This record gives sequence, structure tokens and C-alpha cells, in this order.
Amino acid sequence: MDIPDMMTAMVLEKQGGPLVEKRIPVPVPGVGEVLLRVGACGVCRTDLHILDGELAAPSLPIVPGHEIVGVVVGNGAGATRFSVGERAGVGWLGATCGTCRYCLKGQENLCDNARFTGYTINGGYAEYAVADQRYCFRVPPQYGDVAAAPLLCAGLIGYRSYRMIPENAIDIGIYGFGAAAHIVAQIALHEGKRVFAFTKPRDAKTQAFARRLGASWAGDSTQLPPAELDAAIIFAPAGPLVPAALAACAKGGVVVCGGIHMSDIPSFPYSILWGERVIRSVANLTRRDGEELLSIAPKVQVQTDCTTLKFRYANKALDMLRTGAADGAIVLTMVPELTGRS
Ligand SMILES: [Zn+2]
Ligand SMILES: [Zn+2]
Repeated sequence: MDIPDMMTAMVLEKQGGPLVEKRIPVPVPGVGEVLLRVGACGVCRTDLHILDGELAAPSLPIVPGHEIVGVVVGNGAGATRFSVGERAGVGWLGATCGTCRYCLKGQENLCDNARFTGYTINGGYAEYAVADQRYCFRVPPQYGDVAAAPLLCAGLIGYRSYRMIPENAIDIGIYGFGAAAHIVAQIALHEGKRVFAFTKPRDAKTQAFARRLGASWAGDSTQLPPAELDAAIIFAPAGPLVPAALAACAKGGVVVCGGIHMSDIPSFPYSILWGERVIRSVANLTRRDGEELLSIAPKVQVQTDCTTLKFRYANKALDMLRTGAADGAIVLTMVPELTGRS
């Protein structure tokens, strides 16, 4: 396969942005790494947190993007897991040390020395990317590149968050109904749950989107739902949603915070935590989460709603994410813009 020396990439040079379109060398896969020709790369809220400086110390300059679907076009020394021509998916967890207390306990998502795609390792807002083969996923053949991309972070973090709620929970609140929520809602509905979707006040468009996907109710995050919740997942990065979700939960309810960054949580009366309600966060993902989700998604026939832009319009895509201009997921691709359900 013909691999050029140089490629186009969207590069974050300083926090605050914007990303800059640059010609940089095509990366060379190191030991145990694959070289991917990127087909699609999802745009995640974490990319915005990195751009905006809400997450500290990215390795600058950095190519963002951690929902990569690509074709393997080269293998570094010792990399035999994927053949040239096979597709592979790359998510946020780029590498872990395998030796820290968390790795040894099977909690690689908490690894002290983890490296993250598009944050401390160059990501997929580019024509090519390299990745450690051990942290790549096989992409289910039912999904095209664009449709698969949101599964790799929105899907994975959403799925990990969803697995943190009690199995016997029926009425599930989801705060922030974007890419992760629209995937999780489909799995929850498939498992017989009822979904209550909370959006920014007066966001009728997203509320209609949630109802179309099968939510029993959709309303403003300032409202109480028509039924007490058994659990809630918060994807929106707004701390005031924590007491709001607690207040909406029945006794024993679990509130899962799925984002990597959240504004401060305001103080709240102990009475809304009392009754064995629980607040917890979800950090990163394990490879097992990824493998589970990617095997469940085709069975549930999870469909991803994707708005697609050429990757050189990454700044526009990030703006669209910031303003909530698109339902579902936003995906950068090498093919011309198109919008639709895949
Ligand atoms: Zn570790
Ligand atoms: Zn992400």
C-alpha cells in the first residue's frame, strides 16, 4: 500500500485553539503499533475540554480525536494482531502501564501512567494515526466507519456508565442527551428500561430527538420527571445537575457522572442523598468495556445518528458540539459532508 511521507492534520498548538490545518509527517508505527489510514473520527466533548483548557497538560502540539476507525496500512515490529487491510478502532485509552496498583487489580481505566489518544498521543483528526495494537478494537462489520466511530467513546463511556447502575433499575434518567445518551438509551430500552431524557431548558429539538428514540418522557433538566428514577446518568458537564438528579431519584437511587470534567457541584441538603442514594463517577474505560459494547451493539442493532463533516472542518464540528447544533454524534470523515442515520 502506498503511504505518503506527509499528511494533513488538524493540530492543537495551544489551549484555547483553534485547531490549525497543517502538513506533518505520516507517523511511523513503533514496536507493537499499527498505522491506520483514518476513515472516520468522532468528535467528543472531551476534545472541547482539551481545547478549552479545562483538562490540563495535553502534550502540545497534539492531534485530537479519540474515536478513530481506520484501515490498517502498516504494522510496526512485532505487531501481528491486525493484518494490513483490516479495520481497527481506537478509543481514548491509548496505553496503560500494566504494573501500577490499578492495572494489577484489573482497573486499567484508573492506571496512574495511562496515555490517552488525542491528549497525550496524537489522535484521529488526521489522515493517518498510529496506535498500540493491544488497545485497538475490532470494528463490527455491520457498521461503516462513520457509524462505528461514536461507539468508540460516546458508546464506551456511555456503556460503562450504564453498567454502573443497578441491574434491577427500571426508570433511568439521562441528563444531557447527546452522542453517549443516544447510544445508551437504545441499549437501555432493549433491556426493558424506561428512559427519561433531560436536556437544557427549552431545548425542544433535543427533547423531540429523545422521544423519537423511544424515551418515555423528555423535558428540561430543571423539571422533575413524572416518575421517581431508580438511577440517573449525567453526561452534561454541569455540576448543578448532580443535586437535580439526586432529587429526582427514589431511595437507593444511583447517580452516575459520566463526563471527564464537570463544573463545580453546588452544595445541597443531606436529605436528598439520604435514603442510600449514591453519587459516583466513571473514569475512562477498560478494554473489556470496549469489547463488551462492540459485541452488544450489533445484537441490539444500536444505530448511531451522525452528522458528518470533512475533517478539515474540525473547528466547525467542535463549535457545533459546543452549541448543541447537531442531534446524536458528530463525526469527521474523509468523504464529503452528509447527514443521516447510519
Ligand atoms: Zn497502570
Ligand atoms: Zn471521548
